[in-house]
Amino acid sequence: MKTSALAIAASLSVALVTGTGALAQDYDLVISNGRVMDPETGFDQVANVGINNGFVTEISTDDLNGAREIDATGHVVAPGFIDFHSHGQEPYAFRLYARDGVTTPMDLELGAGSVDAFYDYWEAEDALLNYGTSVSHAFVRIKVLDGVEPGYNPIYTGAMGAAMRDGALFKTKLYDPLDEPVIMDAVEEGLKQGALGISYPLGYYTVAGSPEVMAVAGLAKKYHSFITTHARYIGNVPPSGYLGIEEMLTVARTQDVPMLVHHIPSQCLRLTGKCLDLIEAAQAQGQKVIGEFYPYLYGGSYADADYLKGDWKSVFGIEAKDITLSETGEPLASDQDLRDLQANAPGTGLLVYSIRQEEVLEAFSRPTTIVGSDAMPYQFEDGFTGDWDKPFGAGNGHERGAGTHAKILRMVRENDSLSLMDAISKMTYGPAKFIEDHAPQMKIRGRLQEGSVADITIFDPETVTNNSSSKAGENSLPSTGIPYVIVNGQVVVDDSVVQRIDAGVAIRNPIVE
Ligand SMILES: [Zn+2]
Repeated sequence: MKTSALAIAASLSVALVTGTGALAQDYDLVISNGRVMDPETGFDQVANVGINNGFVTEISTDDLNGAREIDATGHVVAPGFIDFHSHGQEPYAFRLYARDGVTTPMDLELGAGSVDAFYDYWEAEDALLNYGTSVSHAFVRIKVLDGVEPGYNPIYTGAMGAAMRDGALFKTKLYDPLDEPVIMDAVEEGLKQGALGISYPLGYYTVAGSPEVMAVAGLAKKYHSFITTHARYIGNVPPSGYLGIEEMLTVARTQDVPMLVHHIPSQCLRLTGKCLDLIEAAQAQGQKVIGEFYPYLYGGSYADADYLKGDWKSVFGIEAKDITLSETGEPLASDQDLRDLQANAPGTGLLVYSIRQEEVLEAFSRPTTIVGSDAMPYQFEDGFTGDWDKPFGAGNGHERGAGTHAKILRMVRENDSLSLMDAISKMTYGPAKFIEDHAPQMKIRGRLQEGSVADITIFDPETVTNNSSSKAGENSLPSTGIPYVIVNGQVVVDDSVVQRIDAGVAIRNPIVE
């Protein structure tokens, strides 16, 4: 709350100075001569943006006079990017997100096991960017069934590892009706603590009983909330990713709650177009449901993963050559190579190129989708310790944690069939629109209009690019061509340098006593 106190102080001083005449600055900050783009209204023209007290108060072709001015000539001035799929929730990840143009990175896919602990963490940590979360059905199960307190994020607190060592009942215990009310109570507690929605990453615990999944979604209705899902199952062969999405569409319709379906191409693979058709058919019948995608063709894995046994070639629709060694990038030569690794070096890191470019482009081209990075926390020699001072490039993990949004903008530049306004909408207005009935703070985000919150991303459409890659040492290189990012009126990326300030606010529902 430091932010708003400062903003009020600034506003009082501006008011006093304004009264004195010619030297007055009308705005705290002016962004001049940029191509201002607003996906809600379709506004797209060169204009000047005036910001006061953290809000956009003027968009005009007149000269505006600010205490500070950013010259955005040749740049696009867009709403700040909103990402509902940001698992990296620590200062290192937030620095990378900021360089990638993201102003509101939330984890609505896994969500939080303890919603209070999540918000307390960022309150204490001085968040650079806006933050928010859902209550996690998965992590509530870890708490209830495995007896491990998840803390602010089970990946960072080690609760996930502890639950796995402990037998991982959350993903192995068969449905027991007696567990259901206890799990319901724990999910409800998260909603009372101001969770935005309920997250169902069911793909990680396909054992969960269908009656429990159905009952928990009823709580979303009770709290005027929504659900998200990484659905059960994956790929092309039944039980497929398509079947998993069918299940959750039925749950959402039965309980009458909106739903976001995460990473459709990586879930549906060759059935991506069919999965998107399914979502559009549900929309046509009045269901509020949207899909999400990220612009990468591979996921990270290891040789001994369950899904690389059995008929993995049919499930993923790939051959041995589509699997590479993470360390060297070298493709496997034969099925025997994989069997040898499973026998002799089961922990070997692999990249599985299971998604095709045409599937990403299919998702990109549909009006029903938004972009979500699925940014995983970066790992260091000493673990998931992404503090502020770790250098860019030092973190190991999937490149999408650093480059998703700049890559989307680069794809628009390199592909005539993609529209820049659509791409911006999928990273701003699209997510805001989905969530705003349930999180009113988002009604004035994801837009660039007079009255919007000044969450703004300024990028050069001719040069913006991701720089992270799958090569070791390059996984966490920041994007470039996004020289300025503004959060609640404060410049958090200034001439491509991340500033260490506490600009973010909590995006949270009211707490119910
Ligand atoms: Zn997922």
